[in-house]
Order: sequence, then structure tokens, then C-alpha cells
Amino acid sequence: MSLITPDQTPAAVLFDMDGTLTEPMLDFPRIKREMGIGDQPILEALAAMSPGDRAAAEAVLLRHEGEAARLSRLNPGCREVLALLERSGIRTALITRNSRSSVQTVLQTHQLAIQVLISREDAAPKPDPEPLYHACRRLDVSPGEVWMVGDGEFDVQAGLNAGARTVWVSHGRLKHFPETPWQEVTDLWALEALLGKHLTP
Ligand SMILES: [Mg+2]
Repeated sequence: MSLITPDQTPAAVLFDMDGTLTEPMLDFPRIKREMGIGDQPILEALAAMSPGDRAAAEAVLLRHEGEAARLSRLNPGCREVLALLERSGIRTALITRNSRSSVQTVLQTHQLAIQVLISREDAAPKPDPEPLYHACRRLDVSPGEVWMVGDGEFDVQAGLNAGARTVWVSHGRLKHFPETPWQEVTDLWALEALLGKHLTP
């Protein structure tokens, strides 16, 4: 872990949704099988399809996302982390490759308050840095002063691509990608502890 200094206090915290704020919601192998895309990343496979094939495959994806969002469960520590940020006056954004409707279902189901929502309808998907830039513009902060928190390789890549401080939530997994996040935490309790070193409630 790198040394913490006061200037690393986040101006805002950008979160991934699936697997980060919530327990992993989506059965990716099953969705990919039903979409007939092999092991390709879903959004990139959709973009490469003909319009007719894309409509059918997208319907499969939306059905799975909707069901998963309705059944979603928060990861332990989620409410506590968001409450700490709120008490500290640190704003938040949610940046996901999922649909806007599934994001809204998750936030309404769990009554979570997050200031800025960036779904795949709003910007190119992670690992592209565009959704992070978009969130930063709306929060009026610069990418270099935010933390990007996520459990996936795309989160780390997007965070590094945007020049954000990138925190990977490992859930106890060994790192399975080459990029090096700024910090690694095992879960949201560990993130709360890390944030606690930087914030004055
Ligand atoms: Mg994730």
C-alpha cells in the first residue's frame, strides 16, 4: 500500500455498482450464453452486431439486468461507507456499464442517495475514461482529485485511464489483471477505514 497523505482526501468518490455497492448481481456466463456471444465483453459484442441481432441480444441483457436489480442485495458496509461520505460532505457518483433502469431499480430498492448516475446510456463504457470525466464535470471536480472504487478490472483500467486515484475492492481474490490500483481493499469495511484516515466527519 502506498503512503497516505492529506492531499489524497477525495473531492468526490466514484463507485462501480455491481459487485461493489451490491453483491454480484449478474450471472455473466449465463447472459453471454443466452446472447450467443461466446466469452466477449457484453457491451463491446453488442456494438459489433447488426441492428437486428443487437435488438434481440439487448433484450436478453435488459431482462437479466432488470431481474437482478430487483433481487439485488447491498454488500456489507455499503450504507456505512455512504453515510460516512455524506457526514463528511463528500459527494458521490455511480458509474456502471449497466442500464439506467437497473441503476434506478437498485437505488430505489435500497433507498441509496448518490448524486450523479452515469450508466451506459450516458457515455462510452468503462474501461473508457469518458464516464469518469462525465461524472467529474457534473460534480465540478477534476479527475485527479477523486477516488474511483470498483471490484473489476474495467474499474481499475477506467480509473487509471482517467488519472483518478483508483481503489480496487478485492473481496479476497488474488488480483487477476496486470494494472496496479492505487489502493487495494478487501471489502467496503476496509474502504470505510481507508476513508476514515482522510475525512473529518
Ligand atoms: Mg463490478
